[in-house]
Amino acid sequence: MSTRSADAGTRRPPVDEPRVREAVRTILTGIGENPDREGLRATPDRVGRAWSHLASGYSEDPLATLRGALFEEECNEMVMVREIELYSLCEHHLLPFFGKCHIAYLPAGRIVGLSKLARLVEIYARRLQVQERLTAEIAHALEEALSPHGVGVVIEAQHLCMMMRGVEKQGSVAVTSCMLGAFRDDPKTRAEFMELVGRKHSL
Ligand SMILES: [Zn+2]
Repeated sequence: MSTRSADAGTRRPPVDEPRVREAVRTILTGIGENPDREGLRATPDRVGRAWSHLASGYSEDPLATLRGALFEEECNEMVMVREIELYSLCEHHLLPFFGKCHIAYLPAGRIVGLSKLARLVEIYARRLQVQERLTAEIAHALEEALSPHGVGVVIEAQHLCMMMRGVEKQGSVAVTSCMLGAFRDDPKTRAEFMELVGRKHSL
């Protein structure tokens, strides 16, 4: 996987809801619907508000979030949070992908509040994504904020763009991983992580 910076520089202003509303009206007209019929009248407004939420990650700073909850701690054992729920949108089709994210790191004198790991996933997931980049961004943000001995991130997700259209492979799960430091270089650390993830084969 390519290395990528944690990309805090992508911080942007909040969603421009009036423009989203306008675009939704255009889509409704484009598919042959009448945007003024009763059931659709409030739809552009609702979709605009939904996108404010779904794209809220652009206006949040992942590194600041992590740095606000760092603690000095002499802990040498792997810290892991399994099965963090994940909902994101693929940037190719604007359709959801969703699943679980597993995050682990080996502290080097610093730990971060556990809830911030879930928060980190949320910030990057609420941007348009591809699963591979989402995985790498989460790992690199942790590396940058914590300078740990290593980071491992695995995401298992199902993509509606595969399930609803095109190949229609129901139930197939895409698995991506990003291993940094000891998780990449030390087979024992990597194996311990993968065992905790619940998959013994290497990814
Ligand atoms: Zn897609």
